[in-house]
Amino acid sequence: MKPDIHPEYHKALVHCACGHEFEAGSTVKEINVEICSQCHPFFTGKQKLVDSAGRVERFKNKYAKFEAQKASNKSDKA
Ligand SMILES: [Zn+2]
Repeated sequence: MKPDIHPEYHKALVHCACGHEFEAGSTVKEINVEICSQCHPFFTGKQKLVDSAGRVERFKNKYAKFEAQKASNKSDKA
């Protein structure tokens, strides 16, 4: 390693929005995150949607239309 060009590496305390805290290595002393392995749905196995602008509803509406179209296409052929 070249001297005097590397930032100091030390233990950082990571704070998650869910309240969980853990240590990690970083060049900063504190890190704030919105999601961690204690609350992310991938690790909890529960479905939790982080929906800030009605995107899920919009997708559901769009998907309902698509399904309806698919159904009508099938009935045309039969
Ligand atoms: Zn968390």
